[in-house]
Amino acid sequence: MRFRKRNRCQLFNKRWRSGDRGLVNDELVPTLEERKCIGFQKPGRHKCLPPRIKIMNPSIQTSQTSQHWAVVGGGILGMTLALRLSQQGHRVTLLESRANTGGLADAWRIGDATWDRHYHVTLMSDTHARDILGELGLDDQMQWVETKTGFYTDGQLHSMSNTLEFLRFPPLRMIDKLRLGGTIAWAARVKNWKKLENIAVGDWLTRLSGQRTFEKMWLPLLRCKLGECWRETSAAFIWATIARMYAARRTGLKKEMFGYCRGGYAQVLDRFNGKLQDAGVEICCNAAVKSIRTAIDGRMTIQFAEHDRVFDQVVSTLPTPVMSRICPELTPEEKSLFDGVRYHGIVCASVLLKNSLSPYYVTNITDDGYPFTAVIEMTALIDKAELNGSALVYLPRYVAPHDELFDNSDAEIEHEFLCGLQRMHPKLSLADVKAVRISRVRHVFALPTLGYSERLPPIVTSVPGLYALNSSHIVNGTLNVNETIKLANDFAAGLRDLTHPFAHRVARCQPAETLCPV
Ligand SMILES: Cc1cc2nc3c(=O)[nH]c(=O)nc-3n(C[C@H](O)[C@H](O)[C@H](O)COP(=O)(O)OP(=O)(O)OC[C@H]3O[C@@H](n4cnc5c(N)ncnc54)[C@H](O)[C@@H]3O)c2cc1C
Repeated sequence: MRFRKRNRCQLFNKRWRSGDRGLVNDELVPTLEERKCIGFQKPGRHKCLPPRIKIMNPSIQTSQTSQHWAVVGGGILGMTLALRLSQQGHRVTLLESRANTGGLADAWRIGDATWDRHYHVTLMSDTHARDILGELGLDDQMQWVETKTGFYTDGQLHSMSNTLEFLRFPPLRMIDKLRLGGTIAWAARVKNWKKLENIAVGDWLTRLSGQRTFEKMWLPLLRCKLGECWRETSAAFIWATIARMYAARRTGLKKEMFGYCRGGYAQVLDRFNGKLQDAGVEICCNAAVKSIRTAIDGRMTIQFAEHDRVFDQVVSTLPTPVMSRICPELTPEEKSLFDGVRYHGIVCASVLLKNSLSPYYVTNITDDGYPFTAVIEMTALIDKAELNGSALVYLPRYVAPHDELFDNSDAEIEHEFLCGLQRMHPKLSLADVKAVRISRVRHVFALPTLGYSERLPPIVTSVPGLYALNSSHIVNGTLNVNETIKLANDFAAGLRDLTHPFAHRVARCQPAETLCPV
C-alpha cells in the first residue's frame, strides 16, 4: 500500500516539475501553462481567479508520508484549515464554489469603494483571529476604535454607550434597568453554559430581568437575530452573546473597543491567499463540489460539474444540510443529525451614502415594523478615507433559509429597506444614496436550540477519510471569525496531538489506505 502511495507522489512530483500533463491515479496534473491559473472548470479549461490570487509555488514539495487533503469551502474556516494542514506537511487543495475565497467574510465593490460584504469587527479578546492577523503580517494594520451603541425605541434614537446613558434610558424604569444590568453581569460570570442549554432563552431572561424588561428590551433583540425561532432557542445563545460583548468592553460596563484591519477583509484575504500559495496550497475557485464519495481505491472522489478528482482525505466546511445532500454514503443516522441542525440566513443591504446617519456603530431597533433588524454604521468605526469619503451603512435582516425575502428582487429589497431607513432618519434623501448592494446567504449560523450540543453532527463521519467541520460545531460561542479560526486550529491540533482535547473528535483520522485496503 505504502509502495503505491510513494509511487503516486513521485510520479506526481516528477510531472509537476516537468510541467508534463497527465493523470496520476485519476488525478489531473495541470500543465505549466494551466498552473498560471489556479481555478478550473473542467480538465483542460482552467479559469483564472481574480488578480489578487497569484500562482501557487510549485517548488514546495510535501513529504512522502503526507496526505493529499481537499478542503471544501474557501471561507475563513477552510482557509485556516488549509494553512494548518499544509503546515503539518500535507498537500492541500482548497475548493471554493465562488469566484473568490473569503465566504461570509469576503469583500466586494460598492459604488466607488471596496469593503466587506457583511459588517465585520475584531475584538481585543479575539486571540485566535489576532494571531492569524499576526501570521499574515497585518497586526500593525489594526485600528482600535471606541464605538457607541444606539437604540431606536418608541420612534427615538437613544445613545446607550455608557453606564450613565444606560441609567438615563427612558423606556425602562430604574428597577427594570437594575434587573437588566444584573442579568448582563450575571450572564458574564456564568461558567457552566451546558446547564443553560436546557433552559429556553425567554424563560431565563424573564426570570432574571422581569416580564417588562423582557418584553421591552430582550424580545425585540431576540426577534432581530432569530425571528420567531427565539421560542426554540436556549439561554446559551444569549449567554454567549453577552459573554462576547462583555469581552469587548475593556473594564466592566465602560468602553467598547472594536478593531478593523486597514483595507478591510479585502486586504486580509489578499494576504491570506498569498500565505496559502507560499505554503503550497492549491486554491481552486469556481469549483463547486457536487458530491463526495468513496473512490474505487478507498480514497475520496470529489465530483465537480464536469470532472472528478481524487484525494486521500476530505474535510468539508459546508453547512450541514449541504453536506447531507452531497455525501450520499452518510448513514441515515448521520443524515438525520446533519439535517437536524436548523440554520438561519441573512439578507443584508450595503448602503453607500454621501453623509453619516448617526454616531452609532450599532443601532438596535426595538420598535416593530422595520424591514431590517438593526442599522450598522460601518463608518462610525472605520475611517471614511477607506471609502473615498463616503459613509457605509449595513441593513441586515436575519431570516430562515426558506424565507420568501430570498426570492424578492434586489430592487424590491432596496426599495423596502431604503423606505425603512428614511422613516428612521427623516432627513435622509434618496439623493444621498450613492449605491446599494444586496447580499443573500441562506445558511449563516446554526440555531442553538434546546439541548443543541447533545445532537451535534459528527466531525468524523462513518465514511473513511471524510470529515465535516463547520460553524455548527461552535457550541459555546457565537458565530465569529475568532471561533471559526479556533475550530480550524483545534481540528489540526487534534490530528497531530492525540492528547489535545479536540483529538477525540478527529481520532479516526488515518491515512485512507490503512482504512480501506485496495
Ligand atoms: C452579517 C454578518 C456579520 C458578521 N460579523 C462578524 C463580526 O463582526 N466579527 C466576526 O468575527 N465575525 C463576524 N461574522 C461571522 C464570520 O463571517 C464567520 O464566522 C466566518 O466568515 C465563517 O466562515 P466559514 O468558513 O465557517 O463559513 P463561510 O464563510 O460560509 O464559508 C463556506 C464557504 O463554502 C463555500 N461553498 C458553499 N458550497 C460549496 C460547494 N458546494 N463547493 C465548494 N464551496 C462551497 C461558500 O461559497 C463559502 O465560501 C459575521 C457574519 C455575518 C453573516
